[in-house]
Amino acid sequence: MRLADYTTVRLGGPARGFVRASTEEELIEAVRAADASGEPVLVLGGGSNLVVADEGFDGTVIQVATRGVSLGASPGPGMGTVAVAAGEDWDAVVARTVAEGLAGLECLSGIPGLAGATPIQNVGAYGQEVSQTITRVRVYDRKTSEVLEIPNEECGFGYRTSRFRGADRFVVLSVTFGLAVQVRSVPVRYAELAAALGVSPGDQVESTEARSAVIELRQRKGMVIDPADPDTRSVGSFFVNPVLDAGAMAAVEAAARARCGPGTRVPRFAATEDGLVKVPAAWLIERAGFGKGYHPGDGARISSKHTLALVNSGSASTAGLMALAREIRDGVRDTFGVWLAPEPVLVGVTL
Ligand SMILES: Cc1cc2nc3c(=O)[nH]c(=O)nc-3n(C[C@H](O)[C@H](O)[C@H](O)COP(=O)(O)OP(=O)(O)OC[C@H]3O[C@@H](n4cnc5c(N)ncnc54)[C@H](O)[C@@H]3O)c2cc1C
Repeated sequence: MRLADYTTVRLGGPARGFVRASTEEELIEAVRAADASGEPVLVLGGGSNLVVADEGFDGTVIQVATRGVSLGASPGPGMGTVAVAAGEDWDAVVARTVAEGLAGLECLSGIPGLAGATPIQNVGAYGQEVSQTITRVRVYDRKTSEVLEIPNEECGFGYRTSRFRGADRFVVLSVTFGLAVQVRSVPVRYAELAAALGVSPGDQVESTEARSAVIELRQRKGMVIDPADPDTRSVGSFFVNPVLDAGAMAAVEAAARARCGPGTRVPRFAATEDGLVKVPAAWLIERAGFGKGYHPGDGARISSKHTLALVNSGSASTAGLMALAREIRDGVRDTFGVWLAPEPVLVGVTL
């Protein structure tokens, strides 16, 4: 059994043990037993945010295969809740909420993986993040062997992060979302999506329309898994967009003018933290000389549709993928003085 068969980038060597947990009890018991014997554990969802070493994982992989979606009582007027087992397919959950007339997840359509992984890196796209709608996360705490309900404000959510990421302490059992009972979407925030829908940012459309538009935009960028599209053999975005303070931003602007011409304007978005801005990593990567389709020749390449996605063209190894990631990171650092950080979880490898 190779983990390559369980990751969307189709990379990763063997695991010593593999357990598929179909119920919450099985999941907790598998983790508890491994912890009691000192066995390293890798909790596996859909494998869409994982880069695993060619040598594999020297421990037990526990695949989350729990099921269950329940629509519940309203936490407030015009609100409904949806509690989702960790092993539910994420996009099927989004499709269901849209079909049920519940708004708040529609812009997170087409993202691969399972519901239980969404709080880990506070999954987000097209102006929505799960932190905006998660009310609580039910977890198994490996340190205390307790099952806990962690409310949103204690999840430590930030841009592509949370208290769960990298902590290896909590196994997500289920996630509860509070959604607006309405067939219209929540206000569309993302300019590219608003343009695709023919509306202005802040407008609302039918959630079904928002979902279709998001999926279409994502497909064009190779960001919806499609076995027929080799550009989707990836982990999605390989790098997070760097968040810069005013000093770092000024340095990037100066470097950009020196490299690309005096009139160059570096694109930016407001970050959630005051005074900070988010710069698209894709823009920095392209301007540092790594265009779409860049192919150093060992089977790993940049997607032909999206500069942020590093793709296994079929013959890549994890070592080759990481070498490409390092080359890009170093190129961006040398050109702009910005260190790009990886978005996926790295298992047995470092950048
Ligand atoms: C084509 C493509 C497009 C993508 N687009 C986006 C996007 O737009 N926005 C975005 O945010 N992400 C995106 N991603 C990344 C990825 O889909 C998400 O991070 C997703 O939530 C990962 O889910 P998963 O089930 O595949 O997790 P996995 O890859 O299996 O695991 C990721 C991490 O979460 C941990 N984990 C998984 N489940 C649990 C659990 N139940 N309890 C505790 N830990 C757990 C794992 O141990 C690992 O550390 C994309 C990926 C791909 C391949």
